[in-house]
Amino acid sequence: YTEKDIERIARHLRMKPADFEAKFLRVDEDNDKVLQNLPCFFLNDDNTCSIYDVRPKACREYPHTDRKKIYQINNLMIKNTIICPAAYEFVERIMKNLAK
Ligand code: SF4
Repeated sequence: YTEKDIERIARHLRMKPADFEAKFLRVDEDNDKVLQNLPCFFLNDDNTCSIYDVRPKACREYPHTDRKKIYQINNLMIKNTIICPAAYEFVERIMKNLAK
């Protein structure tokens, strides 16, 4: 969660950003602000997003396959292949192209 994400989503939920952070986020080992628990608190029972219009930047960009400097997130992309078919296909195609 970026600071802009926090401000935007907190405003949407009519919360103060500090209260939003205290309730939903924690700081991880990379010093990033991430959700305290998974699955995401904002995931509805029908797999829709309850904050779709204001969702975090990372959710908007997922699985990040159009990123210009994709090499900057190699480790994340490999992790994503475990849960995302699009990320898996993306990495498969890169590997095939590298093998040519
Ligand atoms: S799109 Fe993002 S914020 Fe919305 S439910 Fe999924 S993980 Fe949560």
